[in-house]
Amino acid sequence: MTITLDHLNRCGAEDFTQLLHGLYEHSPWIPERAAAQRPFATIAALKQSLQGVVRRATEDEQLGLVRAHPELAGKAALAGELTAESTGEQAQAGLTHCSADELATLHKLNADYNAKFGFPFILAVKGPTGNGLSRQEIIAAFSRRLRSQRDDELAECLRQIGRIAEMRLNQLLQVELQFGATIMEWSEAIGAWSDDADNLTCAYMTDAHRKTAAQLAAWMKEAGMEVAIDPVGNVVGRYKSNKPGAKALLTGSHYDTVRNGGKYDGREGILLPIAVVKHLNQRGERLPFDLEIIGFSEEEGVRYQSTFLGSNAVIGKFDMALLDKADAQGITMREALTAAGHDVSKIAAVARKPEDVLAFVEVHIEQGPVLLGKGLPTGVVTSIAGSCRYQVELTGLASHAGTTPMIMRKDAAAAAAEIVLYVEDRCGRERSLVGTVGQLQVPDGSVNVIPGACKLSLDIRAADDATRDAAVTDILNQAEAVCARRQIGLKVTKIMQAPAAPCAPWLVKQLAAATERAGIEVFELPSGAGHDAMALARMTDVAMLFTRCGNGGISHNPLETMTADDAEVSAQIFLDFLRQFQTK
Ligand SMILES: [Zn+2]
Repeated sequence: MTITLDHLNRCGAEDFTQLLHGLYEHSPWIPERAAAQRPFATIAALKQSLQGVVRRATEDEQLGLVRAHPELAGKAALAGELTAESTGEQAQAGLTHCSADELATLHKLNADYNAKFGFPFILAVKGPTGNGLSRQEIIAAFSRRLRSQRDDELAECLRQIGRIAEMRLNQLLQVELQFGATIMEWSEAIGAWSDDADNLTCAYMTDAHRKTAAQLAAWMKEAGMEVAIDPVGNVVGRYKSNKPGAKALLTGSHYDTVRNGGKYDGREGILLPIAVVKHLNQRGERLPFDLEIIGFSEEEGVRYQSTFLGSNAVIGKFDMALLDKADAQGITMREALTAAGHDVSKIAAVARKPEDVLAFVEVHIEQGPVLLGKGLPTGVVTSIAGSCRYQVELTGLASHAGTTPMIMRKDAAAAAAEIVLYVEDRCGRERSLVGTVGQLQVPDGSVNVIPGACKLSLDIRAADDATRDAAVTDILNQAEAVCARRQIGLKVTKIMQAPAAPCAPWLVKQLAAATERAGIEVFELPSGAGHDAMALARMTDVAMLFTRCGNGGISHNPLETMTADDAEVSAQIFLDFLRQFQTK
């Protein structure tokens, strides 16, 4: 008999605990406490409830749960003493086929890890579609996490246990992901096409980039959309409503990547809506508006050091002077576009008329650790942070490190250090505010000379411009005060300013309502990173849905991950949002 959510909602608490006892190793208290929170609207809500029980448990209970897990390829595995669930998972990960060297490495890692943290290393080794982590990937993750702090590592083990339980629950309830598995498979397929042999780089108008565009167009067509690739390389699919002349709701994201990037950054926001449209089309279901999915050709600025090429063309702000800009090989953008068969004289025609557009809604991987820390699969974005960048030059007096008394120095680096710490302190005081000194140099410095000059960069971002500007004013005032006290010269140059793009409340409300209907707690957060929605906000109302990012929130890196289940939840929310969409 297949166990259904309905049955789990109706059965007695004891049956519920009994049915779910295999999800968590030797820890029946978890389903026991979740039983009291029934009924669950969705399977996602049940998963959230189980994970919430673990998060709210005492540390002793959490440690007990972690310690109930076997070591990866440990003695218990070799002696055949694991639970049925663990045995299957370790076998599927190939851990039962380790070479002698791999086994020795794993045993050493197990011992070091246990000695450092006092609990076993936990990793959800089985992938969402069966193709889990390789043994090399497991060993790499193990070595990486061995360097973590204890509290972070305990939290990570609990998250991995949550993921293991989620996969076991999927198996128990025979959950067939409607969208998640497809989104992951498609991400893998185009993630394999790169400008570089051993990592993912997909820069503007390279062979890999054009191949990716063609594949996106093919999937859009298959899903039932009218498709075209426009003169700047945007892949545009339109799922027509049955109302002639209907306005379009726009969605999409970018398919280019940074150098050595991740598979989901940008791409999720194209592939997820295609999967959703495919589903609608298979059911013969039309929306009361046209849905346009745009795979933006360029957002990251890798090849021509100019960002948002695709989305700027769509809002009619493509800078035609960029066509003469050359890449590192001396190939101009005009040449690259022409060679790819694009007619640059038609770029202006890419611009949409604002009156034809209802809004723009972008789905994107979070690229940060906030949702991961909150234990939530999705979040609704309130605003895309505006940023300010400055170059700061400090001039002191270079003199002998041995003969100049401490009170007689004009040390530019010491002044810089005070400024750096003030940036950290000032930006730590408000939730949506972040400040970074990413470059810090003592030009021509030597070990035995007091720094006569120091250069630093400043990047300040906040969800709203007033918060950011107030912080910038304070930081620049503080820099002046520090320099005056230390008799240091100060020169500040603004190099960039982009206004924040607030998400439209009427769209945020509808994304939040769809999240709630999916049984997921609504969590609103600002986006610290720039996105295509930032450009679109200059033309129409925008909103964004974030999907949780795995691996500590790492992005712009091959370690960027997302789970099929989180992609599924995001897609269900997006589909529901489309079905219930109310125009302004
Ligand atoms: Zn992105």
